Amino acid sequence: MDSVLKKNLLEVAAGQGRITVMTGAGISAESGIPTFRGPEGYWTVGSKEYHPQEMATYSMFRQYPEQVWAWYLYRLGVCRRAYANEGHRALVRLEKLFVERFTLITQNVDGLHLRAGSSPERTFQIHGNIFFMRCADGCRTDLVPMPDFVEGKEKGEPLTEGDRSALRCPACGGWSRPHVLWFDETYNEEHFRFVSSLKIASATDLLLIVGTSGATNLPNQVAWRVHERGGTIVDINIEQDPFSRLAVSGGGHFIQGPAAKVLPEIVDVLKAGMRNRIKVHRPGESSCQARNSNLEIRNKSEIQMTKRPK
Ligand code: NAD
Ligand code: ZN
Repeated sequence: MDSVLKKNLLEVAAGQGRITVMTGAGISAESGIPTFRGPEGYWTVGSKEYHPQEMATYSMFRQYPEQVWAWYLYRLGVCRRAYANEGHRALVRLEKLFVERFTLITQNVDGLHLRAGSSPERTFQIHGNIFFMRCADGCRTDLVPMPDFVEGKEKGEPLTEGDRSALRCPACGGWSRPHVLWFDETYNEEHFRFVSSLKIASATDLLLIVGTSGATNLPNQVAWRVHERGGTIVDINIEQDPFSRLAVSGGGHFIQGPAAKVLPEIVDVLKAGMRNRIKVHRPGESSCQARNSNLEIRNKSEIQMTKRPK
């Protein structure tokens, strides 16, 4: 690992600042869930092929609810068969180490972070979760778990009568819809933790961005907030993405590699930094003194941050 990156990570861990991780489809690619960038995502409705960015819209759902549901049930099957990988598990370790200093913001709807063991309290699923649905007309806003008997579909397989009745809103009898944020919809706090995500970004000292192409709005706002406050951004992706340059321009880093390999290495270094922090708290020293030493370390890193070329 690059020595400057290692030093930056050790400093953050030894301080008291917040560590935020923002994940995208790339972290689940190694669990066998395709990203939206490959050819696998295309879906045929009638004689026309649609890209996921067209399928995942409220207007498409209003026009073709059955076909959009069939696409989601296909994706549900893929997500059900998938298992968390070393990347997801590394983030569970990171949360256990840093507890209230840690937040995970994920764009993924596959639920794999929670299945790996990340806590629902500190995991903001800002684009929803495919294992839940809610009333498409908004007669009520609560979430209904997807019943186990609703099976994943193969490509081209239509809905059954059983699916149609299971996918009804229990309150008004109209369609339910997948609990995901579609591309033509806006964020809110209740379902997507919009305000909370921005608040966390404004207090973040280290932001790890993992496997996202940066095509959506809130992740961009989160990254820019951290950048503007002088926090360190580390972007992890198998190829350059729009966050890579932002990270480097603020004195942070771009690490080219698969999330399942890179994240465990980063977490090991942060863990070592955390151990140093504990060592600073020597026996006989009051917790206030210990806090002051940590503050000193933190202030040093803050000074370095403000000196970085923008
Ligand atoms: P995206 O498909 O636009 O981009 C994926 C990114 O991951 C790319 O930049 C790619 O280079 C990178 N990547 C691929 N494999 C990787 C690996 N092994 N390690 C690290 N990086 C890797 O995905 P996005 O940016 O998350 O945004 C698209 C939208 O699609 C989001 O709204 C998301 O909710 C949705 N989506 C979710 C899932 C899921 O839940 N698993 C899957 C596909 C799409
Ligand atoms: Zn309803």
